Amino acid sequence: MSITVAVTGGIGAGKSTVTALLAERGAVVVDSDRLAREVVGSGTPGLAAIAERFGTGVISADGSLDRPALAAIVFADPVSRKALEGITHPLIRARFAQLQADAPVGSVVVNDIPLLTTADAAAAFHLVIGVGAPEDVRIRRLVGRGLAAADARARIAAQIDDEARQALCDVWVDNGATPEHTRGQALPLWSRLAGFAANHRAGRAAARGGPVLVPYDPQWPATARRLIARVHAAVGDHRVDHIGSTAVPGLASKDVIDLQLTVADLAQAEVFAPLLTAAGFPRLPDYTRDTPHDFRYDRDGHHETHPDDWRKAFHANSDPGQSINLHLRVRDSPNWAWSLRFRDWLRSDAGARSDYLALKEQTELVHGQDAGVDGYADAKEDFLARSDARIGAWADSVGWSPG
Ligand code: ADP
Repeated sequence: MSITVAVTGGIGAGKSTVTALLAERGAVVVDSDRLAREVVGSGTPGLAAIAERFGTGVISADGSLDRPALAAIVFADPVSRKALEGITHPLIRARFAQLQADAPVGSVVVNDIPLLTTADAAAAFHLVIGVGAPEDVRIRRLVGRGLAAADARARIAAQIDDEARQALCDVWVDNGATPEHTRGQALPLWSRLAGFAANHRAGRAAARGGPVLVPYDPQWPATARRLIARVHAAVGDHRVDHIGSTAVPGLASKDVIDLQLTVADLAQAEVFAPLLTAAGFPRLPDYTRDTPHDFRYDRDGHHETHPDDWRKAFHANSDPGQSINLHLRVRDSPNWAWSLRFRDWLRSDAGARSDYLALKEQTELVHGQDAGVDGYADAKEDFLARSDARIGAWADSVGWSPG
């Protein structure tokens, strides 16, 4: 039981520097360059697979990989490069998983990965840290390390840029200034990682304060996308929607990402529970149902619902750095549809947003100091009940459906 963390960034950005700072605090570091060499070492199944795909011309007389020969093939041909990655990446992942399993319980296992380029690859980690520095600074540093400036430029140009990389990263370390500036960021980052690992080991959620409204953060949708990719990595390709206020552009909200994972039934939620917990989204067993409403849009249109229709499973976050409410709701159950409809109503209606915001601001004043969220939840229920007719009229007018 440990958490896995990727440190990524362009060449010369400072991955090794940040990784070393985390190692100093106690992280278990896995060197991906070393893994990449190991899985194609002499006599390995990886090397045999490469020989089969690329021919014996890529094997030296002593039976080891002839790297320059292989490089000449794959650099010239993207299809060959993909084939090579198809052989090596799964082996590296398996080796990494083994090293993670061997790490002491509660560890933070850090993997320095220059070539993290897809959302799926990022989702395999509990957290992804990006390290960035302006290009001219990186080139200067690489030249200081003995690389020719033209080489440094060419290597940077061959990698994804920082904007694309930021979309994959949960945390961004700015290493564009002094080592002290970077060290200053690594300390709070380590306390987040250590807290995450401790919570994960215990299978518990991070502690949360009372509701505090913050202005709309344009990063919320990207954060939600990363979290959804992790949920998919954990349970497979089931429907997950970003719901709640953070899914409504422009709306101030608590900094809590609400996600709704659609399940076929509550038995499926039981199957998912340990998978989600292992992925850093522990179940909160005390939250087993939504508040039943007497809303117009009930199961069969306008009929009463059974209290069991409001049952759900609820998961939260072990990561102290990002609060998440993950609701597992049964497809077509009343609150499953209702959550989607409420979000879409707020997205489409500026008046709805300002009324809802007024309620939030008012309840924050009253309940902001509460340890729990019950006072807030009650006030919200009241607002929802009062808005029901309006939402229903809107849904009818646009022919709304949950998709
Ligand atoms: P990466 O692992 O991302 O390629 P490194 O951590 O090796 O990058 O950093 C590249 C070079 O820049 C190294 O020589 C390193 O010592 C130097 N370096 C890293 N961070 C800083 C910094 N904040 N200030 C000055 N030099 C740095």
